[in-house]
Amino acid sequence: MGKSWLWGALLALGLQATAQAAEEPGFSSQKLAGGLYVLSGQGGFTGGNILISTGADGTVMIDDSMPPHLNKLRAAIAEISDAEIAFIINTHVHDDHTGNNAAFASEGAYVVAHDKMRDRLALDKTRTADALPVITLNDQMSFYVNDLPVRVFHLSHAHTDGDLAIEFPTLNVIHTGDVLFNGMFPFIDLDSGGSVEGYIAAQQRLLEKVNDDTVIVPGHGALASKADLLRANKMLLDARQKVAKRIAQGDTEAEILAANPLASYHEQWNWEFITTEKMTRTLYRDLTEHRHAHGGKAGKAQAESHH
Ligand SMILES: [Zn+2]
Repeated sequence: MGKSWLWGALLALGLQATAQAAEEPGFSSQKLAGGLYVLSGQGGFTGGNILISTGADGTVMIDDSMPPHLNKLRAAIAEISDAEIAFIINTHVHDDHTGNNAAFASEGAYVVAHDKMRDRLALDKTRTADALPVITLNDQMSFYVNDLPVRVFHLSHAHTDGDLAIEFPTLNVIHTGDVLFNGMFPFIDLDSGGSVEGYIAAQQRLLEKVNDDTVIVPGHGALASKADLLRANKMLLDARQKVAKRIAQGDTEAEILAANPLASYHEQWNWEFITTEKMTRTLYRDLTEHRHAHGGKAGKAQAESHH
């Protein structure tokens, strides 16, 4: 217990003070029709977009951010309603959508997700058992809460193998989960059962469901319209085609990266997490790697954080 311990403690206090002084990211709240609210990150990344239904039956929340943002999330929810959180529906396994499952479950919320999402979360050693869904579905299910029908349905092998979309048909609102990154190259998690083919098919299935007035809540990015979803789908189809053409010519991954076939998309779609290079690598890998039933490596534990 000498000088170095004291120095360390002072340093830790100093760092803590600095962290508190800096502006922490929070949530902006946007009111939609019928008691629905969208909570999105403000001033920094707080995870995927959250959609909330409030009313007499309690609060239903779609996705729940990450542990460092729990207090800000609670505050944002409290601004909307003081009702208990009855259900949390997870769009998929990634921890920027499910990170506060355990906290809300401990207060009585029922966590709902796809069967395969639960299997993957159970394998993730970084997560505790109290984060696991207690209700799962394989294909589709409906809720009748707050005077609303809520349709939940599975999108197969898209962003992961356990993706759900959640539709409020009477309000013409749909949460796509990470099957849409609005205006950004999408993350397609090939190691968690996602596939480019499935991702494209999922977007096309959603396109058939929506119309020009639908409010689309994407997993990440600003609220979207049908036109935004269509643009994202066309981009991905074309980007895949451009990489496929190079592969058919016999180009290696390095040659394709050097040729940069997605260059025309760079300015609009490149972002920090999915750069043009990463998108190109994902398309190359998806098109060349044999994965069983386009299913990825089932059962691979997810040790790292994904969007
Ligand atoms: Zn994700």
